[in-house]
Amino acid sequence: MDNFAKKYVDGFMAELVARNPGEPEFHQAVKEVAESIAPYIAENPQLIDLKILERIAEPERIIIFRVPWTDDRGELHINRGFRVQCNSALGPYKGGIRFHASVNLSIMKFLAFEQTFKNSLTTLPMGGAKGGSDFNPRGKSDAEVMRFCQSFMTELCKHIGQDTDVPAGDIGVGGREIGYLFGQYKRLRNEFTGTLTGKGLAWGGSILRPEATGYGLCYFAEQMLATKGKSFEGQTVVVSGSGNVAQYASQKAMRLGAKVVTLSDSDGFIHDPEGLTEEKMAYVFQLKNIRRGRIKEYAEKYPNAKYYPGQRPWGIPCDIALPCATQNEIGKEDAEALIKGGCYCVAEGANMPSTPEAIAVFQAARILYSPGKASNAGGVATSGLEMSQNSMRLHWTAEEVDAQLHRIMSDIHAACLKYGTEEDGHVNYVKGANLAGFIKVANAMTDQGIV
Ligand code: NDP
Repeated sequence: MDNFAKKYVDGFMAELVARNPGEPEFHQAVKEVAESIAPYIAENPQLIDLKILERIAEPERIIIFRVPWTDDRGELHINRGFRVQCNSALGPYKGGIRFHASVNLSIMKFLAFEQTFKNSLTTLPMGGAKGGSDFNPRGKSDAEVMRFCQSFMTELCKHIGQDTDVPAGDIGVGGREIGYLFGQYKRLRNEFTGTLTGKGLAWGGSILRPEATGYGLCYFAEQMLATKGKSFEGQTVVVSGSGNVAQYASQKAMRLGAKVVTLSDSDGFIHDPEGLTEEKMAYVFQLKNIRRGRIKEYAEKYPNAKYYPGQRPWGIPCDIALPCATQNEIGKEDAEALIKGGCYCVAEGANMPSTPEAIAVFQAARILYSPGKASNAGGVATSGLEMSQNSMRLHWTAEEVDAQLHRIMSDIHAACLKYGTEEDGHVNYVKGANLAGFIKVANAMTDQGIV
């Protein structure tokens, strides 16, 4: 960074941290964007006067609410619900809902901020938002999850709508939860509209939405690999997580010829040196989505695999890493272990899985590294396609949706190349994604006046 950029970022961040104390994930996400766009701001000083970044970093609206619900034994529980409506310059707010014990305001704000740039990158008309609750779905019965979802939606429904804010799933919110949320929304608002995405196929969902984030991640990674004349064929892939994104990223990477050797959850990871197969994937789908079991059971079912409790998979030698679990799951030492193990491509499926120190390691090693806001945008992009289909009351075929997903991921990759290619030809995907996402939002905000 030159002098101006450093001064700009330091000044901006000092104010942001003072205004938003105790929100480390939010500070981390904003700082990364501020550093990427500082040189552009220097060349476009009107953006300083218009305080564009200051405005994007101040969500348009934050709703925090009480979510009371009763468990199967009749005991009352109180959780906290959030919806952070960050930016609507490009379209209705759009972003997932996360149910996880770790959810707090900082995590909601970082995710909504990231979502604003991600949605801009998709080329679709969507603003950025995120929501969720500190409710932990693990170990809860279907009836408990339903009662929680109904209570959550009873408040949330006042703030969303197909032209206002369209939530989707995220960690802890899959097809089951979207069903309960949609049912309650429909009952309270007496309307059948596309207000949530990730819906069941029979009631307004888009084909390929469940697969979209993981598949889109692999389509994006394919393009990254192609810049080095490589592909997934014959490559060893390490994946973290075993939820929605991890499952479909693993399936697609495997179908593209890679050997996927790890999966994880918050208790540990499994290493299967022989790699996943279609049969093993079918077991994982059943284990995680139907039985809602733990990944360690994989090693009981397939004894060639080994379970490592309490550890992450980054020490396993690989060519490609696809982090698909959660934020800050790759620290500096994990990044160094990946490089040492031969990894030359990290494509993020999760949101902000790499710490700034880990990203610095990847950048210094000049490996292919893409931030989640670029490489995991296929999920929200397909949600955008679901919104279009709902508005038209039409269903597109798998081929149509897959072709659009391919096109969108290619467009995002092209935008990263356009804004992120450095003088020596190295592609800085962080800079490319942040700059491309920012410019579009900044231009729209400029057009729309001081709001
Ligand atoms: P799921 O709930 O389906 O799966 C999450 C997976 O990550 C589970 O295996 C979970 O394990 C693991 N995990 C969650 N928290 C932690 C933690 N603190 N430490 C270690 N492992 C953890 O979520 P998704 O697959 O939908 O989401 C995964 C990531 O992808 C998130 O960062 C999300 O924001 C991002 N994303 C998701 C999109 C989507 O369409 N679903 C779109 C774009 C991004 P456990 O069961 O033990 O909790």
